[in-house]
Amino acid sequence: MRTHKIAVIPADGIGKEVIAAGLKAMEALQARCGDFAMTFEHFPWGSDYYRAHGRMMDADGLERLKKFDAIYFGAVGDPVIPDSITLWGLRLPICQGFDQYANVRPTRVLPGLTSPLRHVNGPELDWVIVRENSEGEYAGHGGRAHRGFPEEVGTETAVFTRTGVTRIMRFAHKLAASRPRKLLTIVTKSNAQRHGMVMWDEIAAEVGREFPDVTVDKMLVDAMTQRMVLNPASLDTIVATNLHADILSDLAAALAGSLGVGPTGNIDPEGRFPSMFEPIHGSAFDITGKGIANPVATFWTGAMMLDHLGEHAAAKRLMTAVELITRDPANHTPDLGGNASTAKVTDAVCEAIRSSNE
Ligand code: NAD
Ligand code: MN
Repeated sequence: MRTHKIAVIPADGIGKEVIAAGLKAMEALQARCGDFAMTFEHFPWGSDYYRAHGRMMDADGLERLKKFDAIYFGAVGDPVIPDSITLWGLRLPICQGFDQYANVRPTRVLPGLTSPLRHVNGPELDWVIVRENSEGEYAGHGGRAHRGFPEEVGTETAVFTRTGVTRIMRFAHKLAASRPRKLLTIVTKSNAQRHGMVMWDEIAAEVGREFPDVTVDKMLVDAMTQRMVLNPASLDTIVATNLHADILSDLAAALAGSLGVGPTGNIDPEGRFPSMFEPIHGSAFDITGKGIANPVATFWTGAMMLDHLGEHAAAKRLMTAVELITRDPANHTPDLGGNASTAKVTDAVCEAIRSSNE
């Protein structure tokens, strides 16, 4: 039997709640499919671990994660511990250490959900956002001088390399070419940012020549936000920098109904290291512990993980189950305007998996 070794890192806040839900769905799937197995090893890393041990993850953490086939991740972020410690102590070291340079974020309006866009009923919004995930604005370059003095200066330097931009452009073109519309929108801010962003434009044009069947158009990020709202059907595959795509993909998830339905894969396309799958949302302090976190993003990201592992039938079965249960408003959590609990939605998905046909 095919076996996949999964590292599980629920981390903080609702990350723990949605990963517990996701694992139930994975167990139901294994039982229903019967032709593959997953072993789960849990890592207690995160903000509570930091409080106890003074670090977000163990020093040999990456070394230990290396032997897994994939990582199933919840969210990091704590009301007290600064994000510079939590995010930079756990999630970013994994993304950067494993060179997961392609962050893939599909967005669709699932059946039964309502887009806040009144002209969208479903099929008009079907996007994949590709986020450059290894450099750019989140490269960590910058500094502060004269801290606390009136002349204090803080810099946040975006770093773009030819290697980094070329590989994400190739990845995005390939992905666009694999989708029916073969349409790629390249987002920059190269009017105001005249160095790295202009390099994006140049490299985009070079890589574009390798993919003559992909139709490419270019947008500035500010204008892109209005196009996403006013003309969603004109978009398909989208590629943008680490910061721009971070922002655009939260908007995209909201336009598809809620941040609680947006999945993501942090992918190492070369397969040298494990890739990491997580919902796009954070730890959501405002609803932690209330049992109402929407687990749909975590189910969907689980389906992305199964696809990545080559378990396409299981991935499809999981998404079919999700798309069956979202049709019923009784399975909508409060972020979707309903009053279902995480547990209710999870039970519904597991039941739909158990009773699914071939
Ligand atoms: P957030 O995504 O945690 O929450 C934003 C809003 O969306 C909140 O009102 C929250 O209740 C709601 N929401 C998010 N996910 C939901 C779900 N599954 N179901 C229902 N409602 C949901 O963003 P934030 O409040 O800006 O950040 C909180 C913390 O999370 C911060 O420390 C931030 O740095 C961190 N964060 C981590 C990640 C990550 O781990 N990948 C991503 C984003 C934010
Ligand atoms: Mn984000």
